[in-house]
Amino acid sequence: MEKKYVALTFDDGPSKDTTPALLEIFKKYNVKASFFLMGKSITEQTVKYSEMAYAMGCELCNHSENHKGMSSLSDEEIVEEVNTAEEKIKQITGKNTVFFRPPYIDYNNRMMELIDKIFICGDGAEDWVAEISAEERFERITKQVKNGSVILLHDMEGNVNTVKAVEMIIPKLIEEGYEFVTVSELFEKCKVKAERNVIYSNVFEPK
Ligand SMILES: [Zn+2]
Repeated sequence: MEKKYVALTFDDGPSKDTTPALLEIFKKYNVKASFFLMGKSITEQTVKYSEMAYAMGCELCNHSENHKGMSSLSDEEIVEEVNTAEEKIKQITGKNTVFFRPPYIDYNNRMMELIDKIFICGDGAEDWVAEISAEERFERITKQVKNGSVILLHDMEGNVNTVKAVEMIIPKLIEEGYEFVTVSELFEKCKVKAERNVIYSNVFEPK
């Protein structure tokens, strides 16, 4: 079977329930994921889950401090939103993040100039909507996935349907020949150089 690569990514965490539940699943299947952390979610109570994720080989990425629609902010505010979260993440990893996901995927050229990171979107399942069942999240994700895809989900507090969906997505995609890698590894394994001033939902299809 031809080797295919996919990156599972989670936004808005860390959270005290969803994040550790996901880490248990990753351990069970020996897979890695990437977390786009929201700075204000990193608290005394939750930081340990990001530390555990990082120790397991997961990648930590930047999703801003306060999750504002950023395209309407001033230059200074944009930089502050990224840098405040960045400092908190750096406390965990000791290094700067490579990837940024704009809150609400609200971005413009000015943000791309100001934020010295690779912009990442992804294919999701509207998994912040409580009414969308785990089965539907599973169906949507597994239908749209391709080699080089970024899967976009959320590890916000109480997101049990995404935990259940991930429990189904991982074995299904392993069976289809996918390897789960971090976003950095996705570019490496697919032999794609990540570029600035574009946004990726799949490493082969910059937009
Ligand atoms: Zn978000």
